[in-house]
Order: sequence, then C-alpha cells, then structure tokens
Amino acid sequence: MKKVGFCYDDVFLKHEPTGFHTENRERLVAIIEVLQNSEVWGSLIHFGPREASFEDISLIHAQKYIDKVKGLESGYLDADTYVSKGSLKAARCAAGAVIEAVQRCMTGEINRAFCAVRPPGHHAESAAAMGFCIFNNIAIGARYAQKIGYKKVFIIDFDVHHGNGTQHAFEEDDTVFFFSTHQYPHYPGTGRGAEKGKGRGEGFTYNVPMQSGSGDMEYLDAYQKTLPPLMNRFAPNLILISAGYDILSDDPLSNIHVSHEGIRLIMKAILQSTSVPVVVSLEGGYHLRALSEAVRITLEELLK
Ligand SMILES: [Zn+2]
Repeated sequence: MKKVGFCYDDVFLKHEPTGFHTENRERLVAIIEVLQNSEVWGSLIHFGPREASFEDISLIHAQKYIDKVKGLESGYLDADTYVSKGSLKAARCAAGAVIEAVQRCMTGEINRAFCAVRPPGHHAESAAAMGFCIFNNIAIGARYAQKIGYKKVFIIDFDVHHGNGTQHAFEEDDTVFFFSTHQYPHYPGTGRGAEKGKGRGEGFTYNVPMQSGSGDMEYLDAYQKTLPPLMNRFAPNLILISAGYDILSDDPLSNIHVSHEGIRLIMKAILQSTSVPVVVSLEGGYHLRALSEAVRITLEELLK
C-alpha cells in the first residue's frame, strides 16, 4: 500500500461568495463528509497546508497582480472570480497545499498526495485571475518542486475546462510537460490540438480536445494509449495532476460523460505508467454527490 497524504484545512471554507456561486464551500464540505464515512479516511496521512509565501506565488504570478489580490477585501477579480475576506489566505493555502505535499514527497514521508483545496487554480494567468481561480496552485507547485530538486515535472489536467493558465506558464519550457484533456470548443477557448508549446517548449504541451458528448471511451483512449508513451519519453521526476471532476456526467458545467468507473480507470492508467511521486490537486467538479464519490475513488486508486 502506498503512503498517501491528504491535505485539507477549514481555511478553504472561508473563501465565500456573497450570493450563490457554483464554486462554493459546500464542495469541500461534501467531499470531507463522504471521505470521513469511507474506508480510505483511516488509511490517509493527514496534514494541513502551509501558507504559500509571496515569494512562492511570484514563481508564477506578476508582482502587480499579487498586489492587486492583496489589496482587495471583497468583490470580483474577473466576471467569475470573487474575493471575500478569507480569500487571500485560502488562495495562499491552496497553493501552499501543493507545496507542502511536494515537500513531503521529497522527504519520503509520502509517495502520493491529494490536496482538497479551493479556490481552484488552473485558469489563473500570471497577471490575471480567471474562471474561479486566483493563484495557479499546480503551476506554483511545479516551480517549487523544481526549486527543491524535482527537475522534470509532468502535469496532467483532466478538468473539463482547458488549463490555460498552466499551459501559458510552461509553454516555452522543456522541463515541465503539460498534458490536458478537455471539452472543446468550450470555456476558456484555448486547448486546440495544434497548441504544442513554443520555442524550447515545442513538443512539451499536448492537448487532447474532446467533443461535446464524449465519455469513457474517448477518455480511456487518451489516458491508456496516448499518455503513457508521452510520459515514458519525458521521464519525469514528479507528476502533478489538476483533477477536475466536472468531466462527470452529472456535472452542470459541461457536456462530457465520464463515469465513476471512468475516473478509476483514468487514475489507474496514470499510476500504472509511473513510479515517481504523484500529487493531485482539486480543480473543478460541481455536482456535490458525484464529485465526492469521484474523490473517494481517486484516493482508493492512489492508495493501491
Ligand atoms: Zn473546470
């Protein structure tokens, strides 16, 4: 059995919209409730996040943008992305959760980890919030990992929306590979198959656009056939996963129909293709019951 860390803290509940918003605290409340009543809970190594320093955050984000977030106590950073009193701390801890998990992998305390965080991160650009995301948790985690010795990082993003922020952070970099499956065309509009990286990073971005209505068959083709040879060739020292459960059939934000068994098989395909540490960070997923069950299944697979 693998040593699997689970990073969570109630600080993530304090990022709160003023009215109803799809991306809300109930998502994490539901996940924790399901996990606490499941067999996986007792097998996990529980720890809390650190608060990412502004120096850590500036590994990805522009100082001017960081100052803007620091200066806003409530309101909106873009049409979808709200800020409340507790948001700055929650956002720093969301990035800090990935950092903490990576650090614990490096010391050997854990082999794998799941970070149950919010706000999510993969749409956040260097100088702008976007699509519910304030800081790019996975991108900050990748740069931090490189700083402490994980030279080559492979990022997998299975959220139904394309991880534009993450792609842009590394598209000219040949030391971080970005692999994404996402509904296309769909929000945010990026992620065509022809987007393969630029300059030195050409060939180190791989997008698999999924037509509306796709499901397990299309996803398993991507994860069982396309992904393993890319990962083997790149030979990463660490794998980071942007786990968006808005690919599930019940999810209100998309038209992709991955089943819970599909989530299990996606995780199996990733985990069977590698022996290096794996850190998973929560992105989307808005149907509370479907989301919670999928996180439980993800943890079951991580533990194997
Ligand atoms: Zn999403």
